Amino acid sequence: MGTPLCDGFGRDVRYLRVSVTDRCDLRCSYCMKEDVTFLPRNQVLSLEELDRLCSAFVTLGVRKLRVTGGEPLVRRNILSFFAAMGAHLRAGRLDELTLTTNGTQLARHAQALAACGVKRVNVSLDTLDAQKYTRLTRLGRIGQVFDGIAAAQAAGLRVKLNAMALKGVNDDEIFALTDWAAGHGCDLTFIELMPMGDIPAGTRLDQFWPLDEVRAHLETRFRLIDSALSTGGPARYVTLAETGQRIGFISPLSHNFCNSCNRVRLTCKGELYTCLGQEGSTDLRPVLRAGIEGAALAREIRAAIARKPAGHAFGYGPCAVAGQMARGMNHTGG
Ligand code: SF4
Repeated sequence: MGTPLCDGFGRDVRYLRVSVTDRCDLRCSYCMKEDVTFLPRNQVLSLEELDRLCSAFVTLGVRKLRVTGGEPLVRRNILSFFAAMGAHLRAGRLDELTLTTNGTQLARHAQALAACGVKRVNVSLDTLDAQKYTRLTRLGRIGQVFDGIAAAQAAGLRVKLNAMALKGVNDDEIFALTDWAAGHGCDLTFIELMPMGDIPAGTRLDQFWPLDEVRAHLETRFRLIDSALSTGGPARYVTLAETGQRIGFISPLSHNFCNSCNRVRLTCKGELYTCLGQEGSTDLRPVLRAGIEGAALAREIRAAIARKPAGHAFGYGPCAVAGQMARGMNHTGG
Protein backbone atom coordinates (compact mmCIF):
# COMPACT_ATOMS: atom_id res chain seq x y z
CA MET A 1 0.00 0.00 0.00
CA GLY A 2 2.93 2.41 0.64
CA THR A 3 2.27 5.72 2.37
CA PRO A 4 -1.34 6.55 3.31
CA LEU A 5 -3.48 8.69 1.02
CA CYS A 6 -2.84 12.16 2.35
CA ASP A 7 -3.85 15.60 1.11
CA GLY A 8 -1.85 18.82 1.08
CA PHE A 9 -3.21 19.78 4.51
CA GLY A 10 -2.08 16.60 6.24
CA ARG A 11 -5.51 14.95 6.32
CA ASP A 12 -5.44 11.18 5.76
CA VAL A 13 -8.16 10.06 3.37
CA ARG A 14 -9.76 6.86 4.68
CA TYR A 15 -13.33 7.21 3.57
CA LEU A 16 -14.68 6.91 0.04
CA ARG A 17 -18.26 7.63 -0.91
CA VAL A 18 -19.12 6.24 -4.29
CA SER A 19 -22.21 7.18 -6.25
CA VAL A 20 -23.03 4.14 -8.38
CA THR A 21 -25.80 5.80 -10.38
CA ASP A 22 -27.36 9.24 -10.83
CA ARG A 23 -30.74 7.59 -11.41
CA CYS A 24 -33.45 7.40 -8.82
CA ASP A 25 -36.99 6.13 -8.57
CA LEU A 26 -37.95 9.30 -6.67
CA ARG A 27 -37.72 13.00 -7.58
CA CYS A 28 -37.31 14.75 -4.23
CA SER A 29 -37.96 18.42 -4.83
CA TYR A 30 -34.83 19.55 -2.96
CA CYS A 31 -32.66 17.18 -4.99
CA MET A 32 -33.72 17.22 -8.62
CA LYS A 33 -36.16 18.66 -11.12
CA GLU A 34 -39.21 16.60 -11.97
CA ASP A 35 -38.12 16.35 -15.62
CA VAL A 36 -34.50 15.65 -14.76
CA THR A 37 -32.29 14.27 -17.54
CA PHE A 38 -30.07 11.44 -16.39
CA LEU A 39 -26.63 10.69 -17.75
CA PRO A 40 -26.35 8.63 -20.94
CA ARG A 41 -25.41 5.10 -19.96
CA ASN A 42 -22.07 5.16 -21.79
CA GLN A 43 -20.93 7.98 -19.51
CA VAL A 44 -21.57 5.92 -16.40
CA LEU A 45 -18.85 3.57 -15.18
CA SER A 46 -19.66 -0.10 -15.57
CA LEU A 47 -19.86 -2.15 -12.39
CA GLU A 48 -16.57 -3.74 -13.35
CA GLU A 49 -14.97 -0.29 -13.70
CA LEU A 50 -16.41 0.78 -10.34
CA ASP A 51 -14.96 -2.37 -8.79
CA ARG A 52 -11.50 -1.69 -10.26
CA LEU A 53 -11.49 1.92 -9.11
CA CYS A 54 -12.88 1.31 -5.62
CA SER A 55 -10.52 -1.62 -5.15
CA ALA A 56 -7.62 0.69 -6.05
CA PHE A 57 -8.74 3.08 -3.30
CA VAL A 58 -8.95 0.20 -0.84
CA THR A 59 -5.43 -0.87 -1.79
CA LEU A 60 -4.32 2.71 -1.09
CA GLY A 61 -5.72 2.63 2.43
CA VAL A 62 -9.39 3.58 2.25
CA ARG A 63 -11.04 1.69 5.13
CA LYS A 64 -14.65 2.78 4.82
CA LEU A 65 -16.79 2.71 1.73
CA ARG A 66 -20.27 4.14 1.48
CA VAL A 67 -22.36 3.35 -1.58
CA THR A 68 -24.69 6.18 -2.59
CA GLY A 69 -26.53 7.45 -5.64
CA GLY A 70 -29.02 8.59 -6.93
CA GLU A 71 -30.61 5.51 -5.51
CA PRO A 72 -27.98 2.76 -5.52
CA LEU A 73 -30.50 -0.08 -5.37
CA VAL A 74 -32.12 0.86 -8.69
CA ARG A 75 -28.90 0.00 -10.52
CA ARG A 76 -29.16 -3.36 -12.25
CA ASN A 77 -26.94 -6.07 -10.70
CA ILE A 78 -25.70 -3.70 -8.01
CA LEU A 79 -25.51 -6.65 -5.63
CA SER A 80 -22.53 -7.94 -7.63
CA PHE A 81 -20.68 -4.72 -6.74
CA PHE A 82 -21.57 -5.17 -3.06
CA ALA A 83 -20.31 -8.74 -3.27
CA ALA A 84 -16.99 -7.54 -4.74
CA MET A 85 -16.57 -4.95 -1.99
CA GLY A 86 -17.66 -7.52 0.59
CA ALA A 87 -14.63 -9.60 -0.42
CA HIS A 88 -12.42 -6.69 0.77
CA LEU A 89 -14.26 -6.76 4.10
CA ARG A 90 -13.71 -10.46 4.54
CA ALA A 91 -10.03 -10.10 3.66
CA GLY A 92 -9.62 -7.38 6.31
CA ARG A 93 -8.75 -4.71 3.74
CA LEU A 94 -11.89 -2.72 4.49
CA ASP A 95 -13.47 -1.96 7.89
CA GLU A 96 -16.92 -0.98 6.80
CA LEU A 97 -19.23 -1.16 3.80
CA THR A 98 -22.36 0.95 4.10
CA LEU A 99 -25.21 2.21 1.99
CA THR A 100 -27.32 5.34 1.77
CA THR A 101 -30.70 4.60 0.27
CA ASN A 102 -34.17 6.05 -0.05
CA GLY A 103 -35.43 2.70 1.20
CA THR A 104 -37.89 1.96 -1.59
CA GLN A 105 -36.03 -1.16 -2.79
CA LEU A 106 -34.65 -2.21 0.55
CA ALA A 107 -37.24 -4.86 1.27
CA ARG A 108 -36.08 -6.80 -1.82
CA HIS A 109 -32.35 -6.49 -1.14
CA ALA A 110 -31.86 -6.35 2.62
CA GLN A 111 -30.94 -10.02 3.09
CA ALA A 112 -28.48 -10.01 0.20
CA LEU A 113 -26.85 -6.80 1.45
CA ALA A 114 -26.38 -8.35 4.88
CA ALA A 115 -24.86 -11.43 3.24
CA CYS A 116 -22.32 -9.14 1.51
CA GLY A 117 -21.20 -7.80 4.89
CA VAL A 118 -23.24 -4.59 5.09
CA LYS A 119 -24.10 -3.95 8.74
CA ARG A 120 -25.56 -0.44 8.67
CA VAL A 121 -27.74 1.46 6.23
CA ASN A 122 -28.80 5.10 6.16
CA VAL A 123 -32.37 5.55 5.02
CA SER A 124 -33.64 8.96 3.92
CA LEU A 125 -36.95 9.79 5.55
CA ASP A 126 -37.95 13.43 5.78
CA THR A 127 -41.55 13.02 6.85
CA LEU A 128 -43.88 10.44 8.34
CA ASP A 129 -46.90 11.83 6.57
CA ALA A 130 -47.82 9.65 3.58
CA GLN A 131 -49.27 12.48 1.50
CA LYS A 132 -46.46 14.87 2.30
CA TYR A 133 -43.97 12.13 1.41
CA THR A 134 -45.56 11.65 -1.99
CA ARG A 135 -45.60 15.42 -2.57
CA LEU A 136 -41.99 15.85 -1.51
CA THR A 137 -40.64 12.89 -3.49
CA ARG A 138 -43.16 13.40 -6.34
CA LEU A 139 -43.29 9.61 -6.89
CA GLY A 140 -42.85 7.85 -3.59
CA ARG A 141 -45.11 5.71 -1.44
CA ILE A 142 -44.05 5.84 2.17
CA GLY A 143 -45.22 2.30 2.89
CA GLN A 144 -42.37 0.97 0.74
CA VAL A 145 -39.86 2.77 2.94
CA PHE A 146 -41.44 1.47 6.14
CA ASP A 147 -41.33 -2.06 4.67
CA GLY A 148 -37.70 -1.55 3.66
CA ILE A 149 -36.73 -0.44 7.15
CA ALA A 150 -38.49 -3.43 8.69
CA ALA A 151 -36.79 -5.82 6.24
CA ALA A 152 -33.38 -4.28 6.92
CA GLN A 153 -33.82 -4.72 10.65
CA ALA A 154 -35.07 -8.29 10.18
CA ALA A 155 -31.87 -8.97 8.21
CA GLY A 156 -29.82 -7.67 11.14
CA LEU A 157 -28.90 -4.30 9.64
CA ARG A 158 -28.75 -1.23 11.85
CA VAL A 159 -30.83 1.58 10.40
CA LYS A 160 -30.11 5.27 10.72
CA LEU A 161 -32.72 7.69 9.47
CA ASN A 162 -31.53 10.79 7.65
CA ALA A 163 -34.05 13.61 7.72
CA MET A 164 -33.40 16.80 5.78
CA ALA A 165 -34.45 19.80 7.89
CA LEU A 166 -36.80 21.75 5.64
CA LYS A 167 -38.47 24.92 6.84
CA GLY A 168 -42.14 24.96 5.98
CA VAL A 169 -42.04 21.28 5.02
CA ASN A 170 -41.19 19.11 8.01
CA ASP A 171 -40.57 21.68 10.74
CA ASP A 172 -43.77 20.47 12.39
CA GLU A 173 -42.50 16.87 12.53
CA ILE A 174 -39.27 17.08 14.49
CA PHE A 175 -40.76 15.43 17.58
CA ALA A 176 -42.74 12.94 15.51
CA LEU A 177 -39.60 11.84 13.65
CA THR A 178 -37.68 11.67 16.92
CA ASP A 179 -40.36 9.53 18.56
CA TRP A 180 -40.75 7.29 15.51
CA ALA A 181 -37.00 6.65 15.35
CA ALA A 182 -36.91 5.81 19.06
CA GLY A 183 -39.93 3.54 18.78
CA HIS A 184 -38.42 1.65 15.84
CA GLY A 185 -34.87 1.29 17.20
CA CYS A 186 -33.35 3.64 14.62
CA ASP A 187 -30.76 6.34 15.06
CA LEU A 188 -31.76 9.70 13.64
CA THR A 189 -29.72 12.44 12.04
CA PHE A 190 -30.98 15.80 10.85
CA ILE A 191 -29.24 17.24 7.82
CA GLU A 192 -28.98 20.85 6.76
CA LEU A 193 -29.97 21.62 3.20
CA MET A 194 -26.99 22.15 0.92
CA PRO A 195 -27.06 24.50 -2.08
CA MET A 196 -26.57 21.81 -4.70
CA GLY A 197 -28.40 20.87 -7.85
CA ASP A 198 -30.42 22.65 -10.46
CA ILE A 199 -32.95 24.01 -7.96
CA PRO A 200 -33.96 27.68 -7.79
CA ALA A 201 -31.92 29.53 -5.17
CA GLY A 202 -35.15 31.04 -3.82
CA THR A 203 -36.45 27.57 -2.96
CA ARG A 204 -33.22 26.85 -1.12
CA LEU A 205 -33.45 30.03 0.93
CA ASP A 206 -37.12 29.43 1.68
CA GLN A 207 -36.49 25.88 2.87
CA PHE A 208 -33.13 26.34 4.57
CA TRP A 209 -33.53 25.66 8.26
CA PRO A 210 -30.31 25.96 10.29
CA LEU A 211 -29.83 23.02 12.58
CA ASP A 212 -29.18 25.37 15.49
CA GLU A 213 -32.90 26.12 15.28
CA VAL A 214 -33.80 22.43 15.06
CA ARG A 215 -31.72 21.86 18.14
CA ALA A 216 -33.40 24.75 19.95
CA HIS A 217 -36.77 23.27 18.99
CA LEU A 218 -35.78 19.89 20.44
CA GLU A 219 -34.68 21.67 23.61
CA THR A 220 -38.23 22.79 24.24
CA ARG A 221 -39.00 19.18 25.13
CA PHE A 222 -35.68 17.48 25.89
CA ARG A 223 -32.44 18.26 27.65
CA LEU A 224 -29.68 17.78 25.09
CA ILE A 225 -26.32 16.49 26.25
CA ASP A 226 -23.48 17.01 23.79
CA SER A 227 -21.77 13.75 22.97
CA ALA A 228 -18.11 13.24 22.15
CA LEU A 229 -19.13 10.37 19.89
CA SER A 230 -17.69 10.45 16.41
CA THR A 231 -18.50 7.98 13.67
CA GLY A 232 -15.75 9.39 11.49
CA GLY A 233 -18.27 11.50 9.61
CA PRO A 234 -19.40 15.09 9.85
CA ALA A 235 -22.27 14.46 12.27
CA ARG A 236 -22.24 15.92 15.77
CA TYR A 237 -24.27 13.98 18.28
CA VAL A 238 -26.35 14.73 21.32
CA THR A 239 -28.06 12.40 23.77
CA LEU A 240 -31.58 13.19 24.93
CA ALA A 241 -31.26 13.12 28.72
CA GLU A 242 -34.85 11.94 29.27
CA THR A 243 -34.72 8.93 26.92
CA GLY A 244 -31.05 8.22 26.16
CA GLN A 245 -31.81 8.55 22.46
CA ARG A 246 -28.95 9.70 20.25
CA ILE A 247 -29.59 12.39 17.66
CA GLY A 248 -27.09 13.51 15.01
CA PHE A 249 -26.78 16.85 13.28
CA ILE A 250 -25.01 17.36 9.98
CA SER A 251 -24.70 21.06 9.42
CA PRO A 252 -22.13 21.78 6.74
CA LEU A 253 -23.19 25.41 6.52
CA SER A 254 -23.68 26.56 10.06
CA HIS A 255 -20.81 24.41 11.38
CA ASN A 256 -18.02 23.85 8.97
CA PHE A 257 -16.37 20.44 9.51
CA CYS A 258 -13.72 20.71 6.81
CA ASN A 259 -10.71 20.63 9.16
CA SER A 260 -11.18 16.99 10.02
CA CYS A 261 -12.57 15.83 6.66
CA ASN A 262 -11.16 12.42 5.76
CA ARG A 263 -13.46 11.69 2.83
CA VAL A 264 -13.59 11.96 -0.92
CA ARG A 265 -16.38 11.25 -3.38
CA LEU A 266 -16.42 9.33 -6.60
CA THR A 267 -19.24 9.98 -9.05
CA CYS A 268 -20.81 7.35 -11.23
CA LYS A 269 -18.93 8.95 -14.16
CA GLY A 270 -15.60 8.36 -12.48
CA GLU A 271 -14.98 11.94 -11.37
CA LEU A 272 -13.19 12.21 -8.06
CA TYR A 273 -14.46 15.13 -6.00
CA THR A 274 -12.22 15.74 -3.06
CA CYS A 275 -14.72 18.25 -1.60
CA LEU A 276 -18.51 18.10 -1.80
CA GLY A 277 -18.67 21.89 -1.79
CA GLN A 278 -16.11 22.77 -4.46
CA GLU A 279 -16.33 22.27 -8.20
CA GLY A 280 -12.81 20.94 -8.76
CA SER A 281 -12.63 17.27 -9.71
CA THR A 282 -10.36 14.78 -11.41
CA ASP A 283 -11.81 12.68 -14.17
CA LEU A 284 -10.59 9.12 -13.65
CA ARG A 285 -12.80 7.57 -16.33
CA PRO A 286 -10.35 8.19 -19.22
CA VAL A 287 -7.60 6.78 -17.06
CA LEU A 288 -9.62 3.65 -16.37
CA ARG A 289 -10.76 3.29 -19.96
CA ALA A 290 -7.18 3.60 -21.19
CA GLY A 291 -6.51 0.42 -19.23
CA ILE A 292 -4.28 2.18 -16.70
CA GLU A 293 -4.07 0.25 -13.45
CA GLY A 294 -1.73 -0.74 -10.66
CA ALA A 295 0.96 1.77 -9.74
CA ALA A 296 0.02 4.17 -12.56
CA LEU A 297 -3.61 4.34 -11.40
CA ALA A 298 -2.42 4.79 -7.82
CA ARG A 299 -0.29 7.77 -8.92
CA GLU A 300 -3.34 9.40 -10.55
CA ILE A 301 -5.38 8.93 -7.39
CA ARG A 302 -2.63 10.25 -5.13
CA ALA A 303 -2.16 13.32 -7.32
CA ALA A 304 -5.91 14.06 -7.17
CA ILE A 305 -6.03 13.65 -3.39
CA ALA A 306 -3.07 15.99 -2.99
CA ARG A 307 -5.24 18.72 -4.56
CA LYS A 308 -8.04 18.36 -1.96
CA PRO A 309 -9.02 21.93 -1.04
CA ALA A 310 -9.00 23.27 2.50
CA GLY A 311 -12.78 23.56 2.67
CA HIS A 312 -16.08 24.28 0.97
CA ALA A 313 -17.50 27.60 -0.20
CA PHE A 314 -21.14 27.17 0.81
CA GLY A 315 -23.00 29.87 2.68
CA TYR A 316 -26.52 31.27 3.02
CA GLY A 317 -26.81 35.02 3.33
CA PRO A 318 -30.04 36.81 4.17
CA CYS A 319 -31.00 36.97 0.50
CA ALA A 320 -28.46 34.96 -1.44
CA VAL A 321 -26.89 31.55 -1.61
CA ALA A 322 -23.10 31.50 -1.86
CA GLY A 323 -21.29 28.58 -3.38
CA GLN A 324 -24.44 27.26 -5.10
CA MET A 325 -23.47 24.43 -7.42
CA ALA A 326 -25.43 23.10 -10.37
CA ARG A 327 -23.98 19.64 -9.70
CA GLY A 328 -26.77 17.65 -8.09
CA MET A 329 -26.59 15.53 -4.98
CA ASN A 330 -27.76 12.57 -7.09
CA HIS A 331 -24.71 13.04 -9.29
CA THR A 332 -22.13 13.29 -6.53
CA GLY A 333 -23.79 11.28 -3.81
CA GLY A 334 -25.21 13.16 -0.84
S1 SF4 B 1 -32.83 12.93 -2.54
FE1 SF4 B 1 -32.25 10.79 -2.85
S2 SF4 B 1 -34.23 9.75 -3.01
FE2 SF4 B 1 -34.65 11.88 -3.38
S3 SF4 B 1 -34.52 12.14 -5.60
FE3 SF4 B 1 -32.50 12.65 -4.75
S4 SF4 B 1 -31.37 10.74 -4.91
FE4 SF4 B 1 -33.55 10.23 -5.09
